[in-house]
Amino acid sequence: MSYYSEKPTIIFDMDGTLLDLAYDDFIWNHQLPIRYAETHGCTLEQSTEALFQFYQQHNHTLNWYSTRFWSAKVGVDTLALQQEFKHQVALRPGCIELLEYLKSEGYACWIATNADCEGLKFKLEQTQIAHYFDVIISSESIGYAKECIEFWQKLHFLHPFQIDQSYFIDDTEKVLKGAEKFGLCNLITIAQPSSQGKVRTTSPYPILQDLTDLRTILEQAEDQKKYA
Ligand SMILES: [Mg+2]
Repeated sequence: MSYYSEKPTIIFDMDGTLLDLAYDDFIWNHQLPIRYAETHGCTLEQSTEALFQFYQQHNHTLNWYSTRFWSAKVGVDTLALQQEFKHQVALRPGCIELLEYLKSEGYACWIATNADCEGLKFKLEQTQIAHYFDVIISSESIGYAKECIEFWQKLHFLHPFQIDQSYFIDDTEKVLKGAEKFGLCNLITIAQPSSQGKVRTTSPYPILQDLTDLRTILEQAEDQKKYA
């Protein structure tokens, strides 16, 4: 067996992990309230309140991540809105450097995202990172959000991976909890998912200050294996 197959699979979340969450925050929390107010002839305050109510109802469900759902719900074409500001989609610092390293070292890299298929396709077109990944999956195609254990069961059924060896990096604690329930144990979160947002200092999971810090974690794990 080649050395390649012994390396753990590295599963990445997309938004807030590989990509700067500032873009999504800008679209959903700043631009959409403006468009909603224009569409429905209400004040920005009323629009923000209405959207906040919707957000509360649907957070952490598949609907929450569906551009089609939101377009129908709020009467604004949310995919077109995202396209309009596509130049603001950005990778997080160190993303390419880390992916280049992982590929050169023979790690299999996957994306497991709650972005819907349309949103995923759009972000991959903007960032041109698809070629780094062996598996790219949207929770929409699985039928469950990543917060649910069923997502992981079905992913594992469709694309088998070593549960106790693989790494999963995600900026959302509820998602990491879902993965933990399934049995993944190498779980890592992100210090600053949005370049415009707060820096996380506490989490039940190890925190990556910089994406490239993952190199050190993997190198240490490899050393431990070698000398075990
Ligand atoms: Mg995320």
